[in-house]
Amino acid sequence: MNSKELADLIFPNVKGADYYEKLYPVRNLPEGAQVVRVAPSPTGFIHVGGIFQGLIAKKIAEQTGGVFFVRIEDTDQKRKIENGVEEILGAYKDYDLYPDETVGKGNYGPYVQSERMDIYQSYAKKMIEDGIAYPCFCTPEELEQIRENQTKAQERTGYYGKWAKCRNMPIDMAAEKIKAGEPYIVRFKSPGNPDKKIKHKDVIKGNIDMPENDQDIVIIKSDGLPTYHFAHVVDDHLMGTTLVTRSDEWIASIPLHLQLFYCMGFKTPKYAHTAPLEKAEDGSRRKLSKRKDPEAAVSYYTEEGIPKESLKEYLMNIANSNFEMWRKQNPDKDMMKDFEFDIKKMGVSGALFDMVKLLDVSKGVISRFNAQEVYDFTYTWAEKFDSELKEMLDDKEYSLKVLGIERGNVKPRKDISKWSDVKYIISYMYDEKFMPIPVEYEWQKITDKELIKDIVKTYFEKYYDESDDKETWFSKMKDLAESKGFAREVKEFKANPESYPGHVGDISTVIRVAITGRCNTPDLCEILKVLGKESINKRIEKLEKEI
Ligand code: GLU
Repeated sequence: MNSKELADLIFPNVKGADYYEKLYPVRNLPEGAQVVRVAPSPTGFIHVGGIFQGLIAKKIAEQTGGVFFVRIEDTDQKRKIENGVEEILGAYKDYDLYPDETVGKGNYGPYVQSERMDIYQSYAKKMIEDGIAYPCFCTPEELEQIRENQTKAQERTGYYGKWAKCRNMPIDMAAEKIKAGEPYIVRFKSPGNPDKKIKHKDVIKGNIDMPENDQDIVIIKSDGLPTYHFAHVVDDHLMGTTLVTRSDEWIASIPLHLQLFYCMGFKTPKYAHTAPLEKAEDGSRRKLSKRKDPEAAVSYYTEEGIPKESLKEYLMNIANSNFEMWRKQNPDKDMMKDFEFDIKKMGVSGALFDMVKLLDVSKGVISRFNAQEVYDFTYTWAEKFDSELKEMLDDKEYSLKVLGIERGNVKPRKDISKWSDVKYIISYMYDEKFMPIPVEYEWQKITDKELIKDIVKTYFEKYYDESDDKETWFSKMKDLAESKGFAREVKEFKANPESYPGHVGDISTVIRVAITGRCNTPDLCEILKVLGKESINKRIEKLEKEI
C-alpha cells in the first residue's frame, strides 16, 4: 500500500483539497489591501479584549480597502456554549464593528469551523498522501507511558522524534489496524529540529528567533474535528488572510504555525501579536481577568451605561498613543474614518487598562453629543436599568432643556462619563427629587445664615430677571456683590483682600448652593432659566425654613 491508498482508506469520501482550492479563489483586492480576521471561540464570555481585537482589525481593513472577517473557532466542543455565536456577533454589532464577512455573509465561508469538517479532512488527506501526516494509534495509557519515560530520561515531553511511536509505522501495518477498527487520530509529521532557529518578524514585536517545532501535533482528533492549530492554517489560507492580529499568548505557537504553512505549501500571512490589556494592582500589573475584574466583560459597559464610542475611543488610545493628541486636534472627526492608525506603533508589552482614564475619555465623548443624543442614550439605558431615572426623563421637553445646559458651545460640559451617573448629576433640576431631600448646604466661604438669606432675598427681589442674557446676568451678580460690600471682581479682591469680606464668586456660590444644593454645577444662569420662576420660588421658601 502507498500513502495515497492509505489516505483514501482514512478519508474515502471527502471532496479533496483541489476542489477547495478552486472553490475559494484568490481574492482580487487592490495593492496594499489587508484581509484581517478575528477568530473568537464561542465560550459565552465577551471579553473587552475581543472588542479591542475587532476594533484594530476593522480599522486596518477599512484603512487599506481590505476585508475584515470574523471566524468562529468552535473546534473545542466541550467549551462551546449555546448562543455563543450570536453573542459574539451581537457584541460586534452593538459596537459598530460588524465584519464584512462572517456567519451567513461572504464568499469564503462557512465561517464556523465546526461546519468545515470536510475541508479540514480534505487537507489532512493531502498531507497523508504527501507523507507529512500519519495516523497515530497510541492510547492515553501509551501516551502517559511515553511521558513518564521522558521525565525519567530528563527529556522534553511531547510526541516528537524518536518518542513518536507511530511516526515511522509501515503503511501496511497502519492500514491493517484501521481495517481492524482500531481507534486513531491524525498527526502532523514535523520536519523540525529544535537545535535550529526560525526567524519570525512580528508586525508588533519585531524580530523574534525561536527554536523550530518538532512536535508531531494532532491535526484531526478522534471525533473527526481538527485541532485549532491545523484548522486556523487551513482557514487563513483559504480565506485569504493577509494579516493575523491576535493576542500574544499565541506567540509561542508561531514556530508550529509557520511550519504548517510552509509544509502545506501555503503563503504565510503576517502576524501581529498584541500585548494583553492589563490592570494595575498593588504596585504591579496583571492581565485583565475574566474572573476578578467586572470591567473585563463587555456586558459591564452596557450595564454601567458607558457608551460604546467611549470604550472604542479609549481602546484606540491604548492601541496608538498618538490618538489622544489627534483627538484633541480633531474633536469632531470620526476616528474610524479619519484617524491614521498604525499597527506598528502598538505597544510591545502589556497595555494598562485604566477605568479612571476610560471614564475621563468618556466625559470627552459625551461632551460632544447633543442634548437629544444624550437624552436618547440615557433614556434607553434607564428603561432597562433605572426606572426612577426613566420617570424623570419621561418629561421629555423639560429633560431636553436640562441636558442641554452648557452643551453645543465651544467648551461643553464634561461632567457625565456614563448614563448611570446622569440621575445624580441632574437630580437637583427636578423639584420632586430636590425638595423632599434635606439638603446639606455647603455654603463654602459665606456661612452667616442671616447674610445668606439676605443675599438670596435681595438677588431674587432686586436683580434677577429671567430674560437677561449671560453678560447682563453676570454684571447684575457683580452689582449684588458690590451692594453687600464684596469685591465686584476676583482680581480686585486679590489685590486688596483685607478690604473685602469676599468677592463676586462667593456671592454667586451662595445663590448656586441655595438653588441647587451643590457648590459645583454647570452654568448657573442657564440653570435658573431652565428651572423657571415657580421652581426657584419653592426653593427659596425651602431655604427660609431649613436654615
Ligand atoms: N480561537 C483563538 C482564541 O479564541 C484565536 C487564535 C487566533 O486568532 O489565531 O483565542
